[in-house]
Amino acid sequence: MKKLISIIVPIYNEEKNISLLMNAIDATFCLLSNYYYEVIFVNDGSTDNTNTVLKELAAQNNKLKYLTFSRNFGHQLALKAGLDVARGAAVISLDGDMQHPPQLIPNMVEHWEQGYDIVYTKRQDSLSSSFFKNLSSKYFYAFLNSLSDTKIESGTADFRLLDEKVVHIAKQLNESDLFWRGIFKWVGFKQISIDYKADERANGKSKYTFKKMVRFALKGITSFSIKPLVLAIYIGFFVSLLSILVLPYVFYSFYFGHAKSGWASLMVTVSFFGGLQLMILGIIGLYLGKLFMQSKARPLYIISETNYNDI
Ligand code: UDP
Ligand code: MG
Repeated sequence: MKKLISIIVPIYNEEKNISLLMNAIDATFCLLSNYYYEVIFVNDGSTDNTNTVLKELAAQNNKLKYLTFSRNFGHQLALKAGLDVARGAAVISLDGDMQHPPQLIPNMVEHWEQGYDIVYTKRQDSLSSSFFKNLSSKYFYAFLNSLSDTKIESGTADFRLLDEKVVHIAKQLNESDLFWRGIFKWVGFKQISIDYKADERANGKSKYTFKKMVRFALKGITSFSIKPLVLAIYIGFFVSLLSILVLPYVFYSFYFGHAKSGWASLMVTVSFFGGLQLMILGIIGLYLGKLFMQSKARPLYIISETNYNDI
């Protein structure tokens, strides 16, 4: 029996890339003619003509499905929406800017047919992505792994194939702060990685600004471990020890009557501890904020328009 493969593509302001990508996927599936396929574009609240383009293309091509969000909910939640509706025996997620080559799909499918449940990809450092991106992505993962319990390999992105049993688990997750890279490491199952060379972004520019990347890193760390909280305890302990070391000096000065000269050191100490306490409060606040967001149990995303018949 012919199996269905669902492709999910989160897009945010990619009007020029949709037909390019759709053609590339169509061409790839000419080689995989013993599979059915559907391509689900998740329009993450684009402000350009993405929605019109999607509708026009969907009228010509019945493989093209779209879900349009009522506003921008973010890349990870767009993936969640795609996973929630996908019906394929395998689901492949890829970016909508041609940086994840659809030509890799047959290779992924082959591994899946050999019995792997998750086929994830690793980007080889290439000259095409900027020096800053390569460097920041390397340090991003090193930093993430040092603070988190779930280790993620550097160069992995949201370009992967998932078997339906893994998708079934993804559908059940209702975390407000989803970080898929970590989650698909955490679920286990039989996994294999394949290498690819990232192409240049076809049109437009990267939607991940530095600010978004920092937020993404914090999300990655706080979603998978409470190590930062443990770190706060260690810092507190270390600093208390230090202050004990200062005690003899305090007594000495007091005894010899030049205790008044300590203004500068007092200022430094007070501001240092003020900063440290605020920082640790911030860490605690981050986790508390996550609890708050989760406790409201709002829907993770809102779909305003779709041609996908289940919704
Ligand atoms: N994207 C999205 N919502 C966002 C930001 C990005 O759906 O808020 C999509 C974007 O259209 C692209 C993918 O996520 O298909 C990856 O984004 P981008 O190419 O900008 O990131 P980079 O490749 O630079 O890491
Ligand atoms: Mg990109």
